[in-house]
Amino acid sequence: MAVVLLSGGQDSTTALLWTKANLSPPWYAITFAYRQRHQIEIECAKRIAQKLEVFHTIIDIGALWNALEVVNALTAELPITQTLEGLPTTFVPGRNLFFLTAAAAWGYPRSETDLVIGVSQVDYSGYPDCRAPFLEAAEKALSEALARSIRIHAPFLHMDKAQLWKYADALGYREFIAEETHTCYLGQRDVRHPWGYGCGQCPACRLRQAGYENAFF
Ligand code: ZN
Repeated sequence: MAVVLLSGGQDSTTALLWTKANLSPPWYAITFAYRQRHQIEIECAKRIAQKLEVFHTIIDIGALWNALEVVNALTAELPITQTLEGLPTTFVPGRNLFFLTAAAAWGYPRSETDLVIGVSQVDYSGYPDCRAPFLEAAEKALSEALARSIRIHAPFLHMDKAQLWKYADALGYREFIAEETHTCYLGQRDVRHPWGYGCGQCPACRLRQAGYENAFF
């Protein structure tokens, strides 16, 4: 069985498509709710899981996140800029490690062995937990912690946004990704562009749009 981390965005939704094409069922999708600025992502994740016919669970970690005082541009109304370390304020310290650990623990009684995460180290702001050394270390740590051979799949680690669009398109899901997934940091969903909904100005929208245009024009 495989558990996919599904945020409702383009990358994780494409990772779900990859999972269905490459790993054997049953497929599960987990969405973590942690007071994102925009509930819209979670609504998207629900609809995506339903349409792609995978079991979906939403785990509310808002209180935990709050207790850890994880405050950044995704949860609070802070401007999206750079921190002193040169990372964007959208960086949440420890996020992917926590998500992978929680997904592994959730899957343990279900005999889970495969975790799928849609991260890329190519064009995503240099988050340290979106890189191969982290993923390899997490795979080893979880396998030791659970005394079970856990595999972490990051099929798009070396792909940029244009390649992600092409991948989904080759499976016949270009329009599905554009229509159903949500990327915009500002949560705008009232204007539909060829590449999907969003303000068209924030870093996430610009990356998504540039990827679409590079892929298809
Ligand atoms: Zn935007």
